[in-house]
Amino acid sequence: MNFDDIYAHVPADMTRWIEELALAMTIDGADAAPDGLIDVINACDEKVIAKAPNAGLHHVDEAVAAARAAFPGWARKPWAERRARLEAFADAIEKAQVPLALLIGAEAGRPLRRAASEVFFSVLYVRTLAAQTLPETTYDVAGGQARLVHKPLGVVGAIAPWNGPVILAVAKIANALLSGDTLILRPSPFTPLSALMLGMIGRDIFPRGVFNVITGDADVGAAMTTHAGIAKISFTGSTATGKLIAAAAAPTLKRLTLELGGNDAAIVLPDADIDLLCDTLYRTSIENAGQFCACVKRLYVHESVMDAVTSGLSKRLAAATIGSCFDPATTMTPIQNRKQFERVWSLIDDAAAHGGTILAGGHPLDHGLFIAPTLFTGVGHGVPLVDEEQFGPVMPILPFTDIDAAIDDANRGELGLGGSIWTADVARGLDLAERLESGTAWVNQHGAFTAALPMPFAKQSGIGVDYAHYGVAEHSRLMLLNARV
Ligand code: NAD
Repeated sequence: MNFDDIYAHVPADMTRWIEELALAMTIDGADAAPDGLIDVINACDEKVIAKAPNAGLHHVDEAVAAARAAFPGWARKPWAERRARLEAFADAIEKAQVPLALLIGAEAGRPLRRAASEVFFSVLYVRTLAAQTLPETTYDVAGGQARLVHKPLGVVGAIAPWNGPVILAVAKIANALLSGDTLILRPSPFTPLSALMLGMIGRDIFPRGVFNVITGDADVGAAMTTHAGIAKISFTGSTATGKLIAAAAAPTLKRLTLELGGNDAAIVLPDADIDLLCDTLYRTSIENAGQFCACVKRLYVHESVMDAVTSGLSKRLAAATIGSCFDPATTMTPIQNRKQFERVWSLIDDAAAHGGTILAGGHPLDHGLFIAPTLFTGVGHGVPLVDEEQFGPVMPILPFTDIDAAIDDANRGELGLGGSIWTADVARGLDLAERLESGTAWVNQHGAFTAALPMPFAKQSGIGVDYAHYGVAEHSRLMLLNARV
């Protein structure tokens, strides 16, 4: 499907269309009646666009009981059968591309063509992860035979953020279910709708209790992190919440995959392709309002190309079109929720108070949670906009003359998700990239992910590895079989 075709499917009354879907939580393969309802706000106009179920803590117990009951049967199924069910799940998501994209647009405020592309890539992710295998290792031991195998863990609690409601959920689902685990998905309360639909799609594909979806506030997520019936938490979100989860999971020694915040630096050398850089930055860091874990959040530019970079970016920023996510003319994504909007706004205010110069943007727009895409110069380390993750459409640009000092600056701070070097000399770029303290370091690109490649984390940007067979392995335990013969 051409992503622009999605606009032909926008219902006249989005709220009524969502109501008619009768989205419900899925526990043990069936609807679970909620304790109450939560408002889902569309960030383009800040109006309530839908209501979603609010789970009580008893729903956590019920979902855990269902997932535990389903675990032995699912874990015993041959790998090929679990793979086949995931492939069927991918096919069903593909068939539901239109409604899922409309729901992502409604709940995340995302321009619909971006929402349609998220569903498209989610299907690819499930297919790629479903194709993974976990290698067995055999050891030659004197007088015996030893073999290291992978075994499923049990029930996985998956807790997701709002910035990729489907793609970040399906990776967790595929990793866990292929390994033989059963799963409870609890999406962000800001974006529960598409996850509810995923749960309903899964009912026809997975045995009862294998894949459960509950929606609710942070206390529902927190209850999962302490629950004795859950073996592992697979979490994507901020570093601050990741630390709370690690502490909450400690008494039951749950396995953890934590995919956390980033404050990625890009370093631009004098021979870089500036057009490629500006196009990439605009697409990955600005147009989606910076709401991507591994996009450039600090830009270190050699002073000889500073003017070319600032004018190239300013030109692109001026072309951003703001409006309803259901309008094909809209290209810019709003900030997803008011709390995040206030945070980004306070970082801008603070950077201006620290003497920063605003080259473009720097003001909120007159509707919805939009902030005009903003470029800052004249700010350095010690200013929160540079030192912390902004997760918003505002880019600090820092000039440098000495590459070693730029690498040291890029490595400051506690986060280490991604980083990039921009240069025509790819061999030198790779040498410099290897000096970045980040899970991934790119050359002449940034934020390029595929489920076929592993995603590791450095420093406080996470624990574990996602994607490729690593992500699947993270959802299993190793077992050594050692026989005397
Ligand atoms: P967040 O940490 O505020 O929330 C993430 C999820 O955790 C939400 O569902 C939230 O309701 C839940 N939660 C909050 N408190 C909890 C608790 N005490 N126990 C259990 N669950 C709890 O993050 P966010 O604002 O939703 O997402 C943005 C952040 O996610 C950014 O920092 C971004 O960099 C990060 N992120 C990282 C990756 C990655 O792969 N590393 C990918 C996407 C987003």
